[in-house]
Amino acid sequence: MEKYKHIFWDLDHTLWDFEKNSVAALQEVYHHFDLPSMGIPSFEEFNINYHTHNDKYWERFRKGFITREVMRWKRMYATMLDYKIANEKLASELGEAYLQFLPQQTNVFAHAIDVLEYAEAKGYAQHIITNGFENTQIEKMTNTNMLRYFDVIITSEKAMSMKPHKDIFNYALLKTGANLNNSIMIGDALDVDVLGAVNVGMDAVWFNVHQHQKDGERTFEIHSLDQLYKII
Ligand SMILES: [Mg+2]
Repeated sequence: MEKYKHIFWDLDHTLWDFEKNSVAALQEVYHHFDLPSMGIPSFEEFNINYHTHNDKYWERFRKGFITREVMRWKRMYATMLDYKIANEKLASELGEAYLQFLPQQTNVFAHAIDVLEYAEAKGYAQHIITNGFENTQIEKMTNTNMLRYFDVIITSEKAMSMKPHKDIFNYALLKTGANLNNSIMIGDALDVDVLGAVNVGMDAVWFNVHQHQKDGERTFEIHSLDQLYKII
């Protein structure tokens, strides 16, 4: 007798390889705008600079200090400023282009599709709980052929709440008809996916792909998605 009936997946960094896809999208931006002609000769360096600024602005956004819109152009503006280019219009255009290219990328983690297929064959109801925009997240799942595995897609945009807050998990239970005892959350972020689930009393798998040492409650910890075969 299986304990779980509902699997709640995180999307970014759990199924959809955000890091690889982000680099690929940025590379498209770099070539599309011909940044070498503006004095940015190394994509590798541009990539590192962008991700440094992105981490900083994303953290500010997550804490509610800035809006998503501000984050989107400022992370590009700050990157361009590293090359002495202070151009708000260009930064906005780069930011928009990146967001357009990003969900078109199709890198997923090893075993992602196999595990989704396996869980479907075993009769689990599978859902997504993501801190993201509805259209963007659906585009990512469509382009990677993952959309068909999910019954209900919960985005923070629709739920008006973000993980790790309880509201988005309660909203997810309500929308799916799942309950805490027959549900499990799988996600890469210990302080977002796992903490959020644990706080409402839901079991949670920490997908710790980088094998970080971190304190924090979790029901299971895996380093590769194929380790889920022992759990679900
Ligand atoms: Mg994630």
